[in-house]
Amino acid sequence: MNTAGSLPVCRSVKAVHLRHRTEPFAPVPQPTPAPDRPEGHLPILAIGRAGRPDQPVGRDAPGGARPPRHLADLDPGERRAAAVQLGERSFRGDQLARHYFARLTDDPGEMTDVPVSARVPLAEALLPRLLTAERELTCDQGQTRKTLWRAFDGAYVESVLMRYPGRVTMCVSSQAGCGMACPFCATGQAGLTRNLSAAEIVTQVVAGARALARGEVPGGPGRISNVVFMGMGEPLANYSRVLAAVRRITDRVPDGLGISRRAVTISTVGLVPAIGRLAGERLPVRLAVSLHAPDDDLRDELVPVNQRWKVAEVLDAAWAYAAATGRRVSIEYALIRDINDQAWRAEALADLLSGHLAHVNLIPLNPTPGSRWTASDPGVMQEFEERLARRGVPVTVRDTRGTEIDGACGQLAARAVPVAGATVVGGTVVGRTAAGGTAASGNGG
Ligand code: SAH
Repeated sequence: MNTAGSLPVCRSVKAVHLRHRTEPFAPVPQPTPAPDRPEGHLPILAIGRAGRPDQPVGRDAPGGARPPRHLADLDPGERRAAAVQLGERSFRGDQLARHYFARLTDDPGEMTDVPVSARVPLAEALLPRLLTAERELTCDQGQTRKTLWRAFDGAYVESVLMRYPGRVTMCVSSQAGCGMACPFCATGQAGLTRNLSAAEIVTQVVAGARALARGEVPGGPGRISNVVFMGMGEPLANYSRVLAAVRRITDRVPDGLGISRRAVTISTVGLVPAIGRLAGERLPVRLAVSLHAPDDDLRDELVPVNQRWKVAEVLDAAWAYAAATGRRVSIEYALIRDINDQAWRAEALADLLSGHLAHVNLIPLNPTPGSRWTASDPGVMQEFEERLARRGVPVTVRDTRGTEIDGACGQLAARAVPVAGATVVGGTVVGRTAAGGTAASGNGG
């Protein structure tokens, strides 16, 4: 994480012209042959705005329509079986994986090692278009780019690519919307639409990897080094698909994208049983816990699921995770002026964390529409940071990016309407000048 102080300034926002590939196969809603269990089986309920448990934490699309099955939903054995089911030899499953994960293509025309007669049927069955880029906004000279994706059922999600010197972080969504109802988060305010499939999550990473490989992101051809589940949604409320996506993202090329497991971060509001389950996976991904308050009184309000699992339980689960994986847990703390930024809360946080394998990420609150809250003053932020540091708690202020394009933490609301001031032509934003000069902030990864 970079620290604040040398924040990049993002003065102008540009929309990238989307080059739509000629679509050989339209995304046809179809039932997945072996439907996964809905994730509503997790024994918890999200807490509605009125504090009433009223919404399952993860759910599939109302009406039961599911995203088409895709190669990235399947593990290597399942891919081979799928090829055989399609009347092909099993190794065709591996060939398709090589095209998708190693060459980053799903265009049958490029699959010259597959017989012409088999290419389109295989691609139609295993590489359907899942997400269509509706809009792309960039800032930081093109090194931060947010993509608005439309899914097969019209659900919208967003992903953000952030290029830094020496690393590229892809921030992905795990659900369309979010059921956690955190009042300072734009996604939380919009409510939950549905869980994404594993392949819908992986597709966001593949799109970023492809853009980098093709040199479309300023800075020359590159690769994704980090993936953070910090976009829309609560990843642990969509557990099995998120886990499958992590495996595809981290499996060795060509079975997967070959990104280091240690470079993947799963961020959660603190779904305690799911944290325990993740600890048992023996996957050394980084866990981030969105704490935002050291005391239950305030956290009950800021992170309503705290009414179900209290601070102490969440942190116990986090320490068990650290013990199981040997990995430091990131504690996310958005600093909100006069709400959670008092000196006594810094000390209370230090009491909770000192001596544990933790690192605090302080995030200046990013503005969200209609929110009555604002970021803490820089001096207050600095004092909060210093108090933690003095107590020996590792802490950084996140160099967040993407506020101008509403691509920062908590700003992803996947509106199909353009951001204020944007010029729209044919559904594509073609230009917008940001209210110049604000320091860029957003997901730091
Ligand atoms: N649901 C998961 C994943 C989302 S990650 C989670 O909550 O952890 C997005 C991160 O940005 C979370 O830490 C979230 O609390 C934080 N966030 C949400 N709204 C924000 C805002 N307006 N400003 C700064 N951070 C925010």
